[in-house]
Parts: sequence; C-alpha cells; structure tokens
Amino acid sequence: MQFFVKHLYLLAPIFAIAILGGVYLLIKANDRPIPKYEPKQVEETWSAEEYVRHLNLKPFNQGEVHKLLLKRTRQKPGVYLESLLPAMDTAGIEIIHCYHVVMGDDYVPVITSGNDYPYHLRESKHYQNAAMDFRIVDVPLNKRRKIVEMAQDKLGHRFKVLWEKGEMEHLHVEMVNID
Ligand SMILES: [Zn+2]
Repeated sequence: MQFFVKHLYLLAPIFAIAILGGVYLLIKANDRPIPKYEPKQVEETWSAEEYVRHLNLKPFNQGEVHKLLLKRTRQKPGVYLESLLPAMDTAGIEIIHCYHVVMGDDYVPVITSGNDYPYHLRESKHYQNAAMDFRIVDVPLNKRRKIVEMAQDKLGHRFKVLWEKGEMEHLHVEMVNID
C-alpha cells in the first residue's frame, strides 16, 4: 500500500496519455472522408396539369402563331390578316384542327376574309381584326355541321362560330368580347 501511495504521481502521465489518445481518436473520427453526395435518382415525369402550366409559362411568341396560321391555310387574294388580334390567330389554329379532324391532315383550309372585304356589316368584328371567314363549301355537305360544332366547342364562349348559309356560304368566327 505504501508503495502505491508513494508512486501515485506516476498516474499523472498515464492520465495525460489516455486524454491525448482520446483527443487523437476524436480528431481521427472527424477526419473521415465526407461521404459523397449522390442525389436520389427521381424519375421526372409531367402530370398533364404541370405540362400545361409549363406551356403557359413559356415566353409567348404570338408572331409564330400568326405565321403558323398563314402556313397552314391558303388565303383568298386580298384577304388582310396582318392586324388580326392574337387571340384570333390561336382560334384560327383551332379551326384548322377541326378541318383536319373531319377532312384529314392534308386538307388546307382557305381563309376567305379577315379585315378586308367592304361588304360586311359596318359594326362587323371583321373591321376590328376580330373575325375571320373560312371556306366551307368544298367540305361535303354532311360534314360541314361537324366542323362548325367542333369549332364552337373547342373555342368556348369567348368566340362565336357561325355557319353562314346561302349564296355566300362560309364559316365565320369572331371574338365575343374584344377587351
Ligand atoms: Zn365573317
């Protein structure tokens, strides 16, 4: 017993070494390489709603829509469409689609009037660049109604689609509220 008490001071270096060892192990533990971050592979799929939202967010280039309308149709000589309201370009594309559904994708609809022809009614939407006429007489009689109805259905209440009959039979489409 005497011996131990006498040599108690020897414990001090042992403690010191033990503490140093502990600190060393701690440092070592923090030294481990940081695990590489690997992002989870998530499959990216659109829901229909997301995709439509994305389309609506895209910078809108109405000039391209107008060019497309001219490219997908023929225009009767003298037809003036250059000041057409942007919404009418979009409506025109929808109408072309209706012709395609009924007549096949090779069919090229003919626009017979925009803001031109001086014989529309004075208050006609044609003179506000908010109406367009499409030729319909070259569509078989039993298919004309289908195009007119489909067009009205697609365009909704912001537009009015009329099947003007008689000598000057055609499909007329106009915007209901211009502003
Ligand atoms: Zn018209």
